[in-house]
Amino acid sequence: DRIVGAQETEDDIYNVPSVRPQQLFEYIGQGAVREQLSLSMQAAKMRAEPLDHVLLYGPPGLGKTTLSNIIAQEMGVTLRQTSGPVIEKPGDLAAILTRLEPHDVLFVDEIHRLSPVVEEVLYPAMEDFQIDIVIGEGPAAQSVKIDLPPFTLVGATTRAGLLTSPLRDRFGLVQRLEFYSHDELCQIVTRSANILGLEAHLEGAMEVARRARGTPRIANRLLRRVRDYAQVRGDGIITQEIANAALNLLEVDQLGLDKMDLRFLDALINKFDGGPVGIDSLSAAMGEERGTIEDVIEPFLVQQGFVVRTSRGRLATNQAYQHLGVEKPQTNG
Ligand code: ADP
Repeated sequence: DRIVGAQETEDDIYNVPSVRPQQLFEYIGQGAVREQLSLSMQAAKMRAEPLDHVLLYGPPGLGKTTLSNIIAQEMGVTLRQTSGPVIEKPGDLAAILTRLEPHDVLFVDEIHRLSPVVEEVLYPAMEDFQIDIVIGEGPAAQSVKIDLPPFTLVGATTRAGLLTSPLRDRFGLVQRLEFYSHDELCQIVTRSANILGLEAHLEGAMEVARRARGTPRIANRLLRRVRDYAQVRGDGIITQEIANAALNLLEVDQLGLDKMDLRFLDALINKFDGGPVGIDSLSAAMGEERGTIEDVIEPFLVQQGFVVRTSRGRLATNQAYQHLGVEKPQTNG
C-alpha cells in the first residue's frame, strides 16, 4: 500500500496521543477558511442560532474532519459523525436526524456518495428542519411531517463538482481547502513533534514538510516513520540528515512524489507520449481506479505544475519531463 497516500489508515486512527487540533487557534494555515468560519460562528452565537450548513471540499488529508470537530467544539455542541456510503436508506438518515440535539453538528464525510433517495430526505431537513416520513404501505400509507431540532450539517467531499446542484445550493458556507505551504507544514510537524515528545530540529521538520505533498496527514505520517528511523539509527533527535535518510528509505523523492506519482508520470510520458490522454486510458494503463487518480494523485501533480488538464485530456508539462529525466519529443505539444 501507498505509505504516503492521503487516505486515512489505522496509523491515523489509533495514533495516541492525538495530534489533531481541537480549537481554531491550533489549526494551522487555510487563513481564508478560518477567518470566514470564525466570523460566521461568532455571528451565529450572537444570534443564538446554529451555524449555517458548511460544505468543505478538497483532497483527502487536508483537514476537513478536523475542522468539523473544531466547529462543534467552538459552538459548544455535540458532533455526530457519519458518511455518505454508510447511510443506505432514508430511514437510516431519519434515525440520525431525529436523534440530534438543537444546534448539534452533523458531519457527513464523502457526502457526494449519498444515494439519490437519501439526498431527497436531506433537502427539507437542511432547509426547513423537517422530514417527511411515509408510514404504512399501499393505499393506507400516510406521509407524516416530523420537525427536527435546528442543526448544522457539515459536508465533506474531495471535489465540489461531485455534488448534485440542489444539494450544493443548500449549503450557506462553501469552503475549499488548499494544499499547505512548506512553512505551514513545518509548523504542523513541529507541533506534532512536541505533542509526541520528540526533539526535532527546524531543518529536520522542514525536510519532512517539503516532502509531504502539501498534506498535513502525510506530514504527520512521515514524521512517525522518521521518528522510528531516528530512534533505531540515530539518537532519537530528528535532524535534517536523519529525516532525509528516513524519507529516502520510504522512496519519497525530494519533491515529495512517491512511487504512485512517478508511475502516473511515467505512464503519461512513456506510454502516451506525454498526452493529451483521457483519464480512463491512464487508469487502465496504471491498473489504478479512476477515482484514486482524480482525488489522490492528480490534484497535487496539477498544483505543482507537472500535469495540466485540458479538454482533450491530461498533458505532461516540461517540468514533468525534466523530473523524470526524459527528453521531450519535438512533435509534442
Ligand atoms: P480530511 O478529513 O480532509 O481527510 P483530516 O481532518 O482527517 O483530513 O486531517 C488529517 C490529519 O491532519 C489530522 O489528524 C490532523 O492531525 C492533521 N491536520 C489537518 N489539518 C491540520 C491543520 N490545519 N493544522 C494542523 N494539523 C492538521
